[in-house]
Amino acid sequence: MSPGKGLIADTEVKSIIYGPVPSWRLGRSLGVDLVSTNEKTCSFDCIYCQLGKTIHPLAKRRQFVTIDNLSQELTSVKNIVADYLTFSGMAEPTLASNLGEAISLAKSILPLPVAVLTNSSLMPREDVCHDLAQADVVIAKIDAPNDQLFRKINNPVIDYSFDQILGSIDHFRKRFRGKLALQMMFIAANKDYARQMADIARQLLPDEVQLNTPLRPCPIKPLTPDEIAIIEKEFAGLKVVSVYQASKPEVVPLNLEETLRRRPKL
Ligand code: SF4
Repeated sequence: MSPGKGLIADTEVKSIIYGPVPSWRLGRSLGVDLVSTNEKTCSFDCIYCQLGKTIHPLAKRRQFVTIDNLSQELTSVKNIVADYLTFSGMAEPTLASNLGEAISLAKSILPLPVAVLTNSSLMPREDVCHDLAQADVVIAKIDAPNDQLFRKINNPVIDYSFDQILGSIDHFRKRFRGKLALQMMFIAANKDYARQMADIARQLLPDEVQLNTPLRPCPIKPLTPDEIAIIEKEFAGLKVVSVYQASKPEVVPLNLEETLRRRPKL
């Protein structure tokens, strides 16, 4: 069986929408998993990933769930109270080739701003940036200061280099009218490169930099609040939020099982 067919077989959609989850970056975040495979589908296999190993490594876009299914689910949660509708889940959302159509549909049904959490891996593709540009908030991942550490931390399966990805975020920044945030996960492997990563952030001119460390269960130990505070000093002059300082709202997910599948610890 080809990897493509395997993925279709694995796409057993119980629900595309999950949460709301309490997000330190987005408040009450109602999730949309536009890939919705049973196991993780990603173009990365980050060493700190809270979702375990990448079972379906994928670098090419395709459709996983239909716009009709999404439309039905969005209509059924019309009255939910949330701060953002967030495209994320058990996968890299830009792998879904109907992301742009899905964002536009979501905006026509729900009165919520739309955020997309992306690992940035496919941003060198014009169609991906075109889709992302329809969101109100794009949160793009950068965990490394150079190609070598990028490969060590993120284990990409894509052909693009680290510099190509940075170049594409720069290009996107110049034409995107919404809020662009950079998410940076700090762990032992990159904590000594905070200055270089802050320099990268200054070149990309994000609206915000989100400093994270893995606080949910995973094989990598989080940095301490003191270590993150030292890292934060390197980002002076930029708007920074840190996982240790941000507060999270109380929320009750619509479907706990489907939510915990994508977010093992709320
Ligand atoms: S990009 Fe996100 S989902 Fe993919 S492996 Fe990294 S942390 Fe996990």
